[in-house]
Amino acid sequence: MKKKSLKITILSIVVLVIICFLVLFSRSLVGKALLKSKGQFIRLSSDTCILYEPAAKSQAAAIARAYPDAVKRVEEVHGLPFKKPFNVYVCASQNSLNEYVGNPPGLRIRGAVVFNNIYISPTAFDFNGFDTHKETLTHEMSHLHLKHHIGYFRQRGSVPTWFHEGLANFVAGSGGEGISDKEAVKAIMDGHHFIPDDKGRFFKMKRAADYGMQYPMLHKQTKMFVSYMHDSHTSSFKQFLLDVQDRANFADAFQKRFGMDVVSMWDEFEQQLKAAESENDSTANSNVQL
Ligand SMILES: [Zn+2]
Repeated sequence: MKKKSLKITILSIVVLVIICFLVLFSRSLVGKALLKSKGQFIRLSSDTCILYEPAAKSQAAAIARAYPDAVKRVEEVHGLPFKKPFNVYVCASQNSLNEYVGNPPGLRIRGAVVFNNIYISPTAFDFNGFDTHKETLTHEMSHLHLKHHIGYFRQRGSVPTWFHEGLANFVAGSGGEGISDKEAVKAIMDGHHFIPDDKGRFFKMKRAADYGMQYPMLHKQTKMFVSYMHDSHTSSFKQFLLDVQDRANFADAFQKRFGMDVVSMWDEFEQQLKAAESENDSTANSNVQL
Protein backbone atom coordinates (compact mmCIF):
# COMPACT_ATOMS: atom_id res chain seq x y z
CA MET A 1 0.00 0.00 0.00
CA LYS A 2 2.82 2.32 1.03
CA LYS A 3 4.69 1.48 -2.20
CA LYS A 4 1.61 2.30 -4.28
CA SER A 5 1.13 5.71 -2.66
CA LEU A 6 4.86 6.49 -3.13
CA LYS A 7 4.53 5.67 -6.83
CA ILE A 8 1.48 7.95 -7.14
CA THR A 9 3.33 10.78 -5.36
CA ILE A 10 6.38 10.46 -7.67
CA LEU A 11 4.15 10.30 -10.75
CA SER A 12 2.23 13.40 -9.59
CA ILE A 13 5.49 15.32 -9.09
CA VAL A 14 6.74 14.29 -12.55
CA VAL A 15 3.45 15.36 -14.17
CA LEU A 16 3.54 18.67 -12.25
CA VAL A 17 7.13 19.36 -13.35
CA ILE A 18 6.23 18.60 -16.98
CA ILE A 19 3.17 20.92 -16.80
CA CYS A 20 5.28 23.70 -15.22
CA PHE A 21 7.94 23.26 -17.94
CA LEU A 22 5.34 23.40 -20.72
CA VAL A 23 3.69 26.51 -19.23
CA LEU A 24 7.05 28.28 -18.86
CA PHE A 25 8.13 27.20 -22.37
CA SER A 26 4.89 28.41 -23.94
CA ARG A 27 5.45 31.82 -22.32
CA SER A 28 9.09 32.09 -23.44
CA LEU A 29 10.02 33.93 -26.64
CA VAL A 30 11.05 30.64 -28.31
CA GLY A 31 7.88 28.86 -27.17
CA LYS A 32 5.68 31.71 -28.39
CA ALA A 33 7.53 31.66 -31.73
CA LEU A 34 6.96 27.94 -32.23
CA LEU A 35 3.29 28.17 -31.28
CA LYS A 36 2.54 31.31 -33.30
CA SER A 37 0.11 30.70 -36.16
CA LYS A 38 1.23 31.48 -39.69
CA GLY A 39 -2.38 31.54 -40.87
CA GLN A 40 -2.25 35.13 -42.14
CA PHE A 41 0.57 34.38 -44.64
CA ILE A 42 -0.54 34.22 -48.27
CA ARG A 43 1.21 31.98 -50.80
CA LEU A 44 2.59 33.81 -53.82
CA SER A 45 0.76 32.28 -56.78
CA SER A 46 3.82 32.39 -59.07
CA ASP A 47 6.26 30.96 -56.49
CA THR A 48 4.45 28.75 -54.04
CA CYS A 49 7.42 28.40 -51.68
CA ILE A 50 7.21 32.14 -50.94
CA LEU A 51 4.59 33.32 -48.45
CA TYR A 52 3.91 36.86 -47.30
CA GLU A 53 1.92 38.83 -44.78
CA PRO A 54 -0.74 40.94 -46.59
CA ALA A 55 1.20 44.22 -46.22
CA ALA A 56 4.40 42.68 -47.66
CA LYS A 57 3.17 41.69 -51.13
CA SER A 58 5.60 43.90 -53.08
CA GLN A 59 8.55 42.73 -50.95
CA ALA A 60 7.47 39.11 -51.60
CA ALA A 61 7.48 39.79 -55.35
CA ALA A 62 11.04 41.18 -55.06
CA ILE A 63 12.11 38.11 -53.07
CA ALA A 64 10.56 35.87 -55.77
CA ARG A 65 12.61 37.66 -58.43
CA ALA A 66 15.81 37.19 -56.40
CA TYR A 67 15.06 33.54 -55.53
CA PRO A 68 16.42 31.67 -58.63
CA ASP A 69 19.79 33.44 -58.60
CA ALA A 70 20.11 32.95 -54.84
CA VAL A 71 19.53 29.18 -55.13
CA LYS A 72 21.99 28.96 -58.03
CA ARG A 73 24.70 30.91 -56.22
CA VAL A 74 24.41 28.91 -52.97
CA GLU A 75 24.43 25.53 -54.75
CA GLU A 76 27.34 26.64 -56.95
CA VAL A 77 29.60 27.73 -54.07
CA HIS A 78 28.55 24.97 -51.63
CA GLY A 79 29.01 22.43 -54.43
CA LEU A 80 25.83 20.52 -53.59
CA PRO A 81 22.08 20.93 -54.21
CA PHE A 82 19.57 21.73 -51.46
CA LYS A 83 18.31 18.49 -49.94
CA LYS A 84 14.62 19.38 -49.77
CA PRO A 85 12.14 22.17 -50.60
CA PHE A 86 11.71 25.00 -48.08
CA ASN A 87 9.52 28.05 -47.52
CA VAL A 88 10.43 31.71 -47.40
CA TYR A 89 8.18 33.85 -45.16
CA VAL A 90 8.23 37.56 -45.97
CA CYS A 91 7.16 39.51 -42.88
CA ALA A 92 5.44 42.89 -42.93
CA SER A 93 7.30 44.26 -39.91
CA GLN A 94 10.47 43.73 -37.94
CA ASN A 95 8.43 42.89 -34.86
CA SER A 96 6.52 40.22 -36.75
CA LEU A 97 9.77 38.52 -37.78
CA ASN A 98 11.10 38.80 -34.22
CA GLU A 99 7.99 37.05 -32.93
CA TYR A 100 8.38 34.18 -35.43
CA VAL A 101 12.06 33.61 -34.72
CA GLY A 102 11.94 34.10 -30.93
CA ASN A 103 13.88 37.36 -30.77
CA PRO A 104 13.17 40.14 -28.27
CA PRO A 105 11.03 43.01 -29.65
CA GLY A 106 13.02 45.84 -31.18
CA LEU A 107 15.97 43.74 -32.37
CA ARG A 108 16.85 44.76 -35.95
CA ILE A 109 17.72 41.74 -38.04
CA ARG A 110 17.22 41.22 -41.75
CA GLY A 111 16.54 37.50 -41.89
CA ALA A 112 16.71 34.23 -40.00
CA VAL A 113 16.35 30.48 -40.40
CA VAL A 114 14.04 28.50 -38.13
CA PHE A 115 13.62 24.78 -38.84
CA ASN A 116 13.22 24.52 -42.63
CA ASN A 117 11.91 28.07 -43.05
CA ILE A 118 13.58 31.35 -43.97
CA TYR A 119 12.11 34.59 -42.59
CA ILE A 120 12.80 37.97 -44.22
CA SER A 121 12.05 41.28 -42.49
CA PRO A 122 11.41 44.69 -44.11
CA THR A 123 14.77 45.76 -42.65
CA ALA A 124 16.42 43.69 -45.44
CA PHE A 125 15.03 46.25 -47.90
CA ASP A 126 16.40 49.23 -45.98
CA PHE A 127 19.39 48.30 -43.87
CA ASN A 128 21.19 51.50 -42.89
CA GLY A 129 20.17 52.96 -46.25
CA PHE A 130 21.06 49.86 -48.32
CA ASP A 131 18.55 47.61 -50.12
CA THR A 132 20.01 44.21 -49.19
CA HIS A 133 17.04 41.90 -49.83
CA LYS A 134 18.90 39.79 -52.45
CA GLU A 135 21.95 39.46 -50.20
CA THR A 136 19.79 38.68 -47.15
CA LEU A 137 17.89 35.95 -48.98
CA THR A 138 21.14 34.38 -50.28
CA HIS A 139 22.81 34.66 -46.85
CA GLU A 140 19.95 32.85 -45.10
CA MET A 141 19.85 30.25 -47.89
CA SER A 142 23.54 29.49 -47.26
CA HIS A 143 22.76 28.87 -43.56
CA LEU A 144 19.76 26.69 -44.45
CA HIS A 145 21.76 24.74 -47.06
CA LEU A 146 24.46 23.89 -44.50
CA LYS A 147 21.74 22.89 -42.05
CA HIS A 148 20.20 20.59 -44.68
CA HIS A 149 23.49 18.74 -45.03
CA ILE A 150 24.83 18.57 -41.47
CA GLY A 151 21.82 19.28 -39.25
CA TYR A 152 21.10 22.00 -36.70
CA PHE A 153 23.11 20.51 -33.82
CA ARG A 154 26.27 19.95 -35.85
CA GLN A 155 25.99 23.37 -37.49
CA ARG A 156 26.02 25.05 -34.07
CA GLY A 157 28.26 22.66 -32.19
CA SER A 158 30.95 21.73 -34.72
CA VAL A 159 31.27 24.58 -37.20
CA PRO A 160 32.69 27.81 -35.73
CA THR A 161 30.50 30.91 -36.00
CA TRP A 162 33.11 32.84 -37.99
CA PHE A 163 33.03 30.18 -40.70
CA HIS A 164 29.31 29.72 -41.24
CA GLU A 165 28.74 33.49 -41.05
CA GLY A 166 31.77 34.19 -43.25
CA LEU A 167 30.64 31.58 -45.75
CA ALA A 168 27.11 33.03 -45.90
CA ASN A 169 28.55 36.55 -46.33
CA PHE A 170 30.99 35.40 -49.00
CA VAL A 171 28.27 33.55 -50.92
CA ALA A 172 25.78 36.42 -50.62
CA GLY A 173 28.07 39.46 -50.81
CA SER A 174 26.47 40.58 -47.54
CA GLY A 175 28.05 41.77 -44.31
CA GLY A 176 29.74 44.94 -43.15
CA GLU A 177 27.49 47.33 -45.07
CA GLY A 178 28.69 50.85 -44.35
CA ILE A 179 32.17 49.70 -43.24
CA SER A 180 34.99 50.28 -45.73
CA ASP A 181 37.71 47.71 -46.42
CA LYS A 182 40.20 50.23 -45.04
CA GLU A 183 38.38 50.47 -41.69
CA ALA A 184 38.17 46.69 -41.39
CA VAL A 185 41.86 46.24 -42.28
CA LYS A 186 42.86 48.87 -39.71
CA ALA A 187 40.80 47.11 -37.03
CA ILE A 188 42.47 43.78 -37.87
CA MET A 189 45.95 45.34 -37.91
CA ASP A 190 45.23 46.96 -34.54
CA GLY A 191 44.31 43.54 -33.11
CA HIS A 192 40.56 44.23 -32.96
CA HIS A 193 39.42 41.08 -34.68
CA PHE A 194 37.53 37.85 -34.03
CA ILE A 195 39.43 34.78 -32.87
CA PRO A 196 39.48 32.09 -35.57
CA ASP A 197 38.41 29.01 -33.56
CA ASP A 198 38.42 25.55 -35.10
CA LYS A 199 35.17 24.35 -33.57
CA GLY A 200 31.69 25.67 -32.78
CA ARG A 201 29.89 25.95 -29.45
CA PHE A 202 26.38 24.56 -29.24
CA PHE A 203 25.61 26.50 -26.08
CA LYS A 204 26.59 30.14 -26.01
CA MET A 205 27.57 30.54 -29.65
CA LYS A 206 30.21 33.23 -30.24
CA ARG A 207 28.71 36.67 -30.71
CA ALA A 208 30.15 40.02 -31.84
CA ALA A 209 30.21 41.26 -28.24
CA ASP A 210 32.54 38.36 -27.35
CA TYR A 211 35.15 40.13 -29.48
CA GLY A 212 34.25 43.64 -28.27
CA MET A 213 32.80 44.66 -31.64
CA GLN A 214 29.47 45.30 -33.36
CA TYR A 215 27.91 42.78 -35.78
CA PRO A 216 28.63 44.74 -38.99
CA MET A 217 32.38 44.64 -38.23
CA LEU A 218 32.26 40.94 -37.32
CA HIS A 219 30.41 40.14 -40.56
CA LYS A 220 32.85 42.24 -42.58
CA GLN A 221 35.89 40.50 -41.09
CA THR A 222 34.42 37.00 -41.50
CA LYS A 223 33.62 37.75 -45.14
CA MET A 224 37.14 39.03 -45.79
CA PHE A 225 38.74 35.97 -44.19
CA VAL A 226 36.54 33.39 -45.96
CA SER A 227 36.96 35.28 -49.27
CA TYR A 228 40.74 35.11 -48.76
CA MET A 229 40.56 31.36 -48.08
CA HIS A 230 38.49 30.86 -51.23
CA ASP A 231 40.47 33.15 -53.53
CA SER A 232 43.94 31.98 -52.50
CA HIS A 233 43.22 28.25 -52.07
CA THR A 234 40.27 27.74 -54.42
CA SER A 235 40.45 23.98 -55.05
CA SER A 236 41.30 23.22 -51.38
CA PHE A 237 38.40 25.43 -50.31
CA LYS A 238 35.96 23.47 -52.48
CA GLN A 239 37.17 20.14 -51.11
CA PHE A 240 37.12 21.44 -47.55
CA LEU A 241 33.55 22.68 -47.89
CA LEU A 242 32.46 19.31 -49.28
CA ASP A 243 34.18 17.59 -46.31
CA VAL A 244 32.38 19.87 -43.84
CA GLN A 245 29.07 19.12 -45.55
CA ASP A 246 29.94 15.43 -45.35
CA ARG A 247 30.16 15.82 -41.54
CA ALA A 248 33.95 15.67 -41.28
CA ASN A 249 35.55 17.14 -38.16
CA PHE A 250 36.14 20.86 -38.92
CA ALA A 251 39.75 21.07 -37.63
CA ASP A 252 40.81 17.76 -39.24
CA ALA A 253 39.28 18.64 -42.61
CA PHE A 254 40.92 22.08 -42.45
CA GLN A 255 44.37 20.60 -41.82
CA LYS A 256 43.87 17.92 -44.48
CA ARG A 257 42.71 20.23 -47.28
CA PHE A 258 44.70 23.42 -46.60
CA GLY A 259 47.80 21.76 -45.12
CA MET A 260 47.70 24.10 -42.12
CA ASP A 261 45.50 24.87 -39.12
CA VAL A 262 43.05 27.77 -38.84
CA VAL A 263 45.44 30.00 -36.89
CA SER A 264 48.17 29.57 -39.54
CA MET A 265 45.61 30.48 -42.22
CA TRP A 266 44.73 33.61 -40.22
CA ASP A 267 48.46 34.52 -39.98
CA GLU A 268 48.77 34.08 -43.75
CA PHE A 269 45.69 36.31 -44.22
CA GLU A 270 47.19 39.03 -41.99
CA GLN A 271 50.52 38.87 -43.86
CA GLN A 272 48.67 39.36 -47.13
CA LEU A 273 46.80 42.38 -45.68
CA LYS A 274 50.09 43.86 -44.45
CA ALA A 275 51.72 43.34 -47.87
CA ALA A 276 48.77 45.01 -49.60
CA GLU A 277 48.93 47.91 -47.11
CA SER A 278 52.63 48.56 -47.64
CA GLU A 279 52.13 48.37 -51.41
CA ASN A 280 49.38 50.99 -51.11
CA ASP A 281 51.66 53.17 -48.95
CA SER A 282 54.53 53.02 -51.44
CA THR A 283 52.15 53.86 -54.31
CA ALA A 284 50.84 56.83 -52.29
CA ASN A 285 54.41 58.00 -51.56
CA SER A 286 55.45 57.78 -55.20
CA ASN A 287 52.34 59.77 -56.13
CA VAL A 288 53.38 62.48 -53.66
CA GLN A 289 56.88 62.68 -55.21
CA LEU A 290 55.35 63.12 -58.63
ZN1 LIG B 1 24.05 34.74 -40.69
